[in-house]
Amino acid sequence: MTRALTLILASVPIALIATSAMTASKGLPQDKQSNARNFVLVAHGGAGDYSHLTPEQIAARRAAMTTAMEAGYKVLAGGGRSLDAVETTIRILEDSGQFDAGRGGYYTRDGVPELDAAIMDGQTLNAGAVAAVKRIANPISLARLVMEKTPHVLLVGAGAEQFAESQGVRLVSPYYFFDESRWKNYQERRAAEEKTKSSGLSAQPVHGTVGVVALDQSGNLAAGTSTGGTNWKMPGRVGDSPLIGSGTYANNESCAISATGTGEFFIRNVVAADICARVKYLHVSLEQAATDVIMKELVEQHGDGGIIGLDRHGNVAMLFNTNGMMRGVVKSDGNITIKIRQE
Ligand code: ASP
Repeated sequence: MTRALTLILASVPIALIATSAMTASKGLPQDKQSNARNFVLVAHGGAGDYSHLTPEQIAARRAAMTTAMEAGYKVLAGGGRSLDAVETTIRILEDSGQFDAGRGGYYTRDGVPELDAAIMDGQTLNAGAVAAVKRIANPISLARLVMEKTPHVLLVGAGAEQFAESQGVRLVSPYYFFDESRWKNYQERRAAEEKTKSSGLSAQPVHGTVGVVALDQSGNLAAGTSTGGTNWKMPGRVGDSPLIGSGTYANNESCAISATGTGEFFIRNVVAADICARVKYLHVSLEQAATDVIMKELVEQHGDGGIIGLDRHGNVAMLFNTNGMMRGVVKSDGNITIKIRQE
């Protein structure tokens, strides 16, 4: 997108952009027109137990998600790529400090966040991911650099941070991730664990991973996920989010998925790729495929979590087997709807 167009879009209300995006599609061939009508962005802010959050905390998360989705919407309305919309939206969620991603990443048992992220392009199947990075403000953008500037898919830890520096990405101080209330929670948890000598396996799952899937006006899907991982995770533990096919997947031939929940279940069941494979080979709807995996198979295994998904026709799926999953949808009309509970 040119700088001039970016400036214009930034100053035009969302509804107007939607109208002009639709008007601009008039002269396009039929297939492009239907895609233009269909552009969609879906975001999540984690599946889990929302009952412990105060109304103020929920309002803050909603506000952050709205701002992020508006930015992603502008990319799509301006004719931008789904990949850019996914990265733009997730960067804002990471910066907000409201979610278990980027600035808000949960602390490991060692008291520092280790962040994971992945991004995938449904048109080319190119993908990039980083895991266990400690000094990266926007892991989603580093994942994109891995995709575009290396022959690899996944870089971890010190190697990922070295690569970041080589690309001119500034490493932030560990204090960048400091937050009074998360630190207090961490210390309480540590004291409780020491008292009971518990392994931490029985802990109530609390999640706040972020993920975005998008379909652009050219009909291309993309998916991205960013997380600090599960609460009280062991240092070095990597979840499903940066593993292509487990927590993140996009393929124009089937669907785009971003998952959230206890990652070990999503890894063992290769959830994102399994849902897309069902769409591709069984010819079932995305909703059906996701229901079978999340609401049946995972439930049978006591695997908690959910997914957001989009197929190439713009059909949206948002399934979760927990008591809540913050999720938002915006289509070309520009109306953003955000929900948390089952309804
Ligand atoms: N799936 C993430 C992980 O296991 C956590 C989450 O979604 O809350 O790392």
